[in-house]
Amino acid sequence: MAPVAETPSKFTAAMRGLMGRCPHCGLGKLLRNYLKPVDRCAVCGEPYGHLRADDAPPWLTILVVGHIVIPALLHVEQTWEWPMWLHMAVWPLLALVLTLILLPRFKGLILGIMWSTGAHDDEPEEAAEAPPLNRS
Ligand SMILES: [Zn+2]
Repeated sequence: MAPVAETPSKFTAAMRGLMGRCPHCGLGKLLRNYLKPVDRCAVCGEPYGHLRADDAPPWLTILVVGHIVIPALLHVEQTWEWPMWLHMAVWPLLALVLTLILLPRFKGLILGIMWSTGAHDDEPEEAAEAPPLNRS
């Protein structure tokens, strides 16, 4: 494993995550199998398997794709008279392609932000199953 000189800024870590790279070193891959975070960076060894982005990447993807597809659809609808079959072919396909492109990037972005801010799942399964503390 290569030594990494210094901890990157939060912005740099987020941008490295957005590009699918390790937020720490920027060289190793952050995701495997499309959306699964690697357990550790293959280059610097930084652990990522414990980070849980939950619903943030799909939420961000829906937000962005919706703000691209719906204005484009409305513009086309008001400018040209496309037949309905063309609308039904173009817009779902555009939404699907944009979603498949953006979802792993936004997952990397969220993981990069989580890594740089130290935010991670505070409720490990052992703690959730532990009995309540005796406060007597
Ligand atoms: Zn790394």
